[in-house]
Amino acid sequence: MRTIIGVSSNLKEDLLSVPMSNVRAITKSGGVPIVLPNLVGDGIEEIAGVIDGLLLTGGGDIDPTLFGEEPLPGLGNIVPERDQFELALIQKMLELNKPILGICRGAQIMSIAMGGDMYQDIYSQKDASLLQHDQQAPNWHGSHFVQVTEGSLLREIVGVDKIKVNSYHHQALRNMPEGFMINGVASDGVIESFESTNHAFVMGVQWHPESLIANGDASSLAIFGAFMKACKK
Ligand code: MN
Repeated sequence: MRTIIGVSSNLKEDLLSVPMSNVRAITKSGGVPIVLPNLVGDGIEEIAGVIDGLLLTGGGDIDPTLFGEEPLPGLGNIVPERDQFELALIQKMLELNKPILGICRGAQIMSIAMGGDMYQDIYSQKDASLLQHDQQAPNWHGSHFVQVTEGSLLREIVGVDKIKVNSYHHQALRNMPEGFMINGVASDGVIESFESTNHAFVMGVQWHPESLIANGDASSLAIFGAFMKACKK
């Protein structure tokens, strides 16, 4: 039996969708992807039971009331069903200690699920002079650097102190939930990635390794490889 990875999807006007780059990243790493529904309140236990790991894909913004804030003017599109479905599934996966890789929005919702919080819009909320985190270059191109934390699982996986990543976010992680450590930071101080210190493999990255893989990016291949390996156990 090969490793089955649940791939989260978006919901817009009654249509489920997910960029194929996520699906291809799983097949390229030897797994069998299953695209997940955004069904609220039912089937969570069964889905978590069937999948060996969860890939939380990128997407729109997250409802700020989930972390105790009201919407600021810079907040974008919200999908309540997706938020609810993913929060419930994350809780269940963590209970089962099954691996999760969160990408961009996926990293953020994972942090929220565990009690962390985030910036709704870094450009209006952060006072430091910021890098361009919404790159105009193609998505397979790494546009800014991330300093990888010494002693982290991410450092072990990528094998270097500094990696180049793509960037498509105006929201960002703020306070880490308990039991999670920051493992990657941009030069402007924006938190780019984190990992659980209590679980086998639970990691979130603000960038899109599934797109960088198309350009043969070594660190992205290593991240997906390590994720798949953890899911196989
Ligand atoms: Mn970035």
